[in-house]
Amino acid sequence: MRVGGRVEWFLEPTTPEELRSAVNACRERGLAPRILGGGANLIIADGILPGVVIGTGRMNRLFRIWPAVDGEGSSDQEQDPSAWSAEPSGRVAPADPALDPRLVGWAGTTLPSLVRAARDLGYGGIEGVVGIPGHLGGGVAMNAGGHWGELWDHIELVRVIDEEGEFLDLTPEQVQPGYRNGNLGTRVVAAAILHFEPAPKALIEQRMREILREKNAVQPVSERSAGCVFKNPDLEVSGGRGAGRLVDDCGLKGRSIGDAMVSPLHGNFVVNRGAARATDVLALIEEVRAEVAQQTGIELELEVKRWLD
Ligand SMILES: Cc1cc2nc3c(=O)[nH]c(=O)nc-3n(C[C@H](O)[C@H](O)[C@H](O)COP(=O)(O)OP(=O)(O)OC[C@H]3O[C@@H](n4cnc5c(N)ncnc54)[C@H](O)[C@@H]3O)c2cc1C
Repeated sequence: MRVGGRVEWFLEPTTPEELRSAVNACRERGLAPRILGGGANLIIADGILPGVVIGTGRMNRLFRIWPAVDGEGSSDQEQDPSAWSAEPSGRVAPADPALDPRLVGWAGTTLPSLVRAARDLGYGGIEGVVGIPGHLGGGVAMNAGGHWGELWDHIELVRVIDEEGEFLDLTPEQVQPGYRNGNLGTRVVAAAILHFEPAPKALIEQRMREILREKNAVQPVSERSAGCVFKNPDLEVSGGRGAGRLVDDCGLKGRSIGDAMVSPLHGNFVVNRGAARATDVLALIEEVRAEVAQQTGIELELEVKRWLD
């Protein structure tokens, strides 16, 4: 969104272990650190944000799983913590990618680089992530998705830092992620193992192009935004209308405060036309929410996260 001020403390770990140390160092000092991924679904207040933000931008590592030297491989990652390491120490390089269509990504892996890598390896299923900015950690925390499915559909295991400051490996069955909610509470995503279905690269590329064409036609993808502002309401209550459609039906497209404007292209996006402040964006969101509630009786829930104080 390119709004908001500065943070008091900013930590940039480069590995899952450093991330764990950073989280624990904060907690030992009585601070609850905020975790910043790509900031693609976030509005940060103007001014100085007190406390600590830990950014995952330097944890951009994506790699294939190293099979065990004896060739048995390892399907149970909980028994094999070294599978989370980007270094092959004592292990051999993976063979044919099609034999084990999985990838390990650390929290700072960018979603665009994940989609590109999957395409280049002939790993299908995750094409719907094309055009979604942000990091793997943020995507897992938010359960990023669309009509194609959700990121968690492709997760085998997530390594989190739990409330005690220890690494904990969780399966989707244990976590039960929901709609735009990774259901992780205060746990911090350090890394994830993703699984795919092998597919011809040309087919994957074609699907990606189609999805991008669709998105470009209906979303202000090249403008500064935080993605969808509101979650879609229960479609039975809204008469089948998503949040963007409700905003549109209420005549709010194009509504603005300062340089913050409800996108004329998509009612669920607020864009920064240049010099918007966080205050403008936040006030506009509240205005839209109040107006939709007044006209339709539907209370829209925020999808974007706000860091206000
Ligand atoms: C143009 C555009 C299009 C978009 N399209 C889509 C779409 O189609 N579908 C969709 O779902 N989203 C979409 N988004 C929103 C956004 O891209 C996703 O929600 C993305 O997953 C956010 O990732 P991030 O790393 O930027 O998270 P951030 O914005 O940095 O953080 C979001 C939340 O996740 C938490 N978080 C971040 N990293 C971690 C971590 N390692 N551990 C624990 N918590 C963490 C943060 O504390 C915060 O609460 C779009 C955004 C834009 C700007």
